[in-house]
Amino acid sequence: MAKYDIIIVGAGHNGLVAACYLAKAGLKTLVLERREIVGGASVTEEIHPGFRCSALAHSAGPMSPQVIRELDLQKFGLEIIDNDVRVVALAPDTRSICIYNDVARTSDEIKSFSSKDADAYPEFVKSFSRIGRVLAPLATMTPPSIDRPAPNDVWQLGKMGLAFRNLGKKDEYRLLRWGPMAVADLAAEWFDTELLRATVASRGIYGAFAGPWSAGTSLGLLWQAALDEHPIPPASFVKGGMGALAEALSNAASASGVEIRSASEVSAIYAGNGISAKVLVNNKDELDARAVVSNADPHATFLRLIDPVELEPTFLSKIRNYRANGAVGKINLALSGLPKFNGIDDASKLTGRIHVGPEIDYLERAFDAAKYGDFSPAPYLDITIPSLTDPSLAPESKHVMSIHAQFAPYKLKSGDWNSRRDEFGNTVIAQLEQYAPGISNLIVAQQILTPLDLEQVYGLSGGHIHHGEQSLDQFFTFRPLLGWAQYRTPLNRLYLCGAGTHPGGGVTGLNGANAAREVLKDVKAGKI
Ligand SMILES: Cc1cc2nc3c(=O)[nH]c(=O)nc-3n(C[C@H](O)[C@H](O)[C@H](O)COP(=O)(O)OP(=O)(O)OC[C@H]3O[C@@H](n4cnc5c(N)ncnc54)[C@H](O)[C@@H]3O)c2cc1C
Repeated sequence: MAKYDIIIVGAGHNGLVAACYLAKAGLKTLVLERREIVGGASVTEEIHPGFRCSALAHSAGPMSPQVIRELDLQKFGLEIIDNDVRVVALAPDTRSICIYNDVARTSDEIKSFSSKDADAYPEFVKSFSRIGRVLAPLATMTPPSIDRPAPNDVWQLGKMGLAFRNLGKKDEYRLLRWGPMAVADLAAEWFDTELLRATVASRGIYGAFAGPWSAGTSLGLLWQAALDEHPIPPASFVKGGMGALAEALSNAASASGVEIRSASEVSAIYAGNGISAKVLVNNKDELDARAVVSNADPHATFLRLIDPVELEPTFLSKIRNYRANGAVGKINLALSGLPKFNGIDDASKLTGRIHVGPEIDYLERAFDAAKYGDFSPAPYLDITIPSLTDPSLAPESKHVMSIHAQFAPYKLKSGDWNSRRDEFGNTVIAQLEQYAPGISNLIVAQQILTPLDLEQVYGLSGGHIHHGEQSLDQFFTFRPLLGWAQYRTPLNRLYLCGAGTHPGGGVTGLNGANAAREVLKDVKAGKI
């Protein structure tokens, strides 16, 4: 008899979500995490005494309300801070557009740039919201098998087909056209204002090795709409930083009987055809279970933890071709005061995300640098100041700032990340100075995370923030590979539950929940 029913490799938020569901179903579940702390990319770190910041992800995807409810995460301490402001977009000439949850208020903001765009904005949001509602069920379903669709797959897809028909011709055509489009084209179909176009387009390239003129980048907007009925992502913060989400999940898991061990790196997985699966921990201890569920990304799981002789050469070659080279760096700042942004007199406009990337061409040029192996001299920045809405993160009247900086390619053509770390940090701060003059004088401490750090410290292969590109060829039934999008793997006792599975990256908890459902089906069917 195996000691555990399930061993989960990795305590990212998806690993913890999966653990909660599996333990609640009565399975003896162990989670092994290589780091000292749980959460993976959902972590809060003290970057300077008294200053705490979401070190990596700073705004939830949003987190699935269903998962929050079913796991009772509020009871375990989760407090989501939803801000009225989604994003404020800054222009170099000190003008700005603030995008609120409130559509009419946003149109008012846009009016000072273009009354035509202000009039188009409500239909833009409504259209994405209608389409998003049709796509939403995809997020919580297991992508169907193309070769052998189960009766339930056919039923689910049939229901979606019906919902699609009910969209009406205009939205039906939109949905079919938009998916493969470059997001720059889509934004230009709706709006004339460059700042607005670039803000809209930024969703399509968030975390991607792609620029706004890359084909298929509109997918990001459609998917965002599926997650929260809006094409522009929310500012969905967690009180205490993203680490507080991991803490709530780990409390919920422990309450359901899950055992969590940190500083326990899985160095090998054996999960083929035997009567149980095994993992090697910290290169010395062997533990066995009925099945292993990996929260590590596909490259880490298949190329590092499994003996290649266990996998078919064609599968291995497809996994090697799975694209997962990251393009994001992260700078976190401890600030002695609130920076003053040009043209922003009302600090409440800074409570959501702050967008730097004023034109489509700016974003494309930022990508060009990465395409040719260097970080952008003028990067696209997605910034938050979470201490504005959660003062517990910094000492009184002081602040923390979290800066997602794109593009910073994992592979540099010249030099290496360790020797160019400061240069990268200085480039980002210099860019920020143009929008918030004097910010450098407020910096008490800084944390500069390069794509190499994302790999070496946080375990993200290739430093990819989503465990792999979220392009049309690595999406839904193709994530991570066609034929293997149902959380199962070629090894009978190995499953995946991380962001490299459907529905992809972002802090939603859905990968973990979907994967747990599939594992439970196989337990019930006596397959494991
Ligand atoms: C810089 C950055 C910014 C981001 N910004 C946002 C954002 O603002 N909003 C958003 O929604 N998403 C954002 N994301 C994406 C999001 O954070 C991830 O998609 C999501 O957190 C992935 O969760 P996960 O649980 O699937 O994997 P992870 O969080 O990567 O967790 C995997 C875990 O497995 C562990 N592990 C790996 N290998 C082993 C092993 N061999 N043994 C034991 N443990 C192992 C790792 O240490 C890690 O804890 C960002 C990500 C990054 C990196």
